Order: sequence, then C-alpha cells, then structure tokens
Amino acid sequence: MSLPLEVQLSLPSWVRDVIPAGVRTRGTESKMALVVRLAAENVEREPGGGPFGAAVFKMDTGDLVSVGVNSVVRLRNSVFHAEIVALLLAHRELGVHKFGVDGAPALELITSCEPCAMCLGATMWSGVSRLVCGATKADAQALGFDEGPVNDASYAHLRDRGMEIIRGVLRDDAVAVLKRYQALGRPVY
Ligand SMILES: [Zn+2]
Repeated sequence: MSLPLEVQLSLPSWVRDVIPAGVRTRGTESKMALVVRLAAENVEREPGGGPFGAAVFKMDTGDLVSVGVNSVVRLRNSVFHAEIVALLLAHRELGVHKFGVDGAPALELITSCEPCAMCLGATMWSGVSRLVCGATKADAQALGFDEGPVNDASYAHLRDRGMEIIRGVLRDDAVAVLKRYQALGRPVY
C-alpha cells in the first residue's frame, strides 16, 4: 500500500443550482438565510449529508467567496464539517493561508450552527474577522451531535483576538433543519 499524498474535496453539483454565481449581500440575516438553505438542501438532496451549512463572505463588499455543506459521510472524512469545507475552499479561492492580514481581504464565516471544537479552532486560525452562528451548540447536541469542548472561554479567546462573534441569527430556521434531519432518522456522529 502506497502512502497517500493528496485528498479530494468537492461539493455536490446541486450547490450551483441552489446558490447562484456572483452573490453579494451585506445583510447578516440574508447571509444566514443562504447557509440555512444550504443546510436544508443538504438534508433533502442526493448526495447530501449532515444538516449543516456555512459560507464565507468578504466583509467590505458582501461578496460570497465560498460555501460549505457537511460532507463527512458523503466523502467519508471526519473533518469535512460545513465550516471546514467553506474555509478550505475560501483559502483555495483567494490563494492565501490567512485572511485579513498582509493584504488578504477581511472575511466573515456564517454557519448554520455554532461550530464544534475543531471548526472553532479552524475559524480562529483562518483569520476570519467575524463569525455568525444560527443554531446553538445545545440545539446540535439535542440531536446527539458531539460539539466537543466548546464553552464561553472558547468564545472569549476568539473575541480577545479581535474576532466579532454574533450568535443566534435565524436560530429557529436553523433548528427546523436539525429537526427535519432528526425526523428522517439520518445518521448522527
Ligand atoms: Zn465542526
């Protein structure tokens, strides 16, 4: 068996049907509505995945840079949460290893649910300037999803580094997607 040298990441092609090219929006709720739609489509479509969506926008213009949907089961990869997918694609799109510094644009990450421990760490190291969340950690855990060690101190750590954090945006809409996923009896991990 040879040592693997690369990994493939791709979004399902239906994403292009759901999210038109050239999206630009400045409204926080509009951005959240977009990622909740992604989460909902990821539950209903084939191939789909976990009930989570995320997107990266430029802070100054509101241009959509990238989107992500939970791809853990579809791509058989434990780290392909929606936020990770969106961040990886944003890095690739912009060609920088850290956002918001050295001339790289300031970005915000919009996620349909508060990030797990892994995604919160990735959010910090990506350099995004703003994090906006829909459903809460408790909402995800109510379904059985493991969010890992995330607590108030985790958010304080990010705020101390200058990140703006807004939680609970369109929470009811985001929770409705979680409940739909649960009603369908889909896998929880
Ligand atoms: Zn995560």
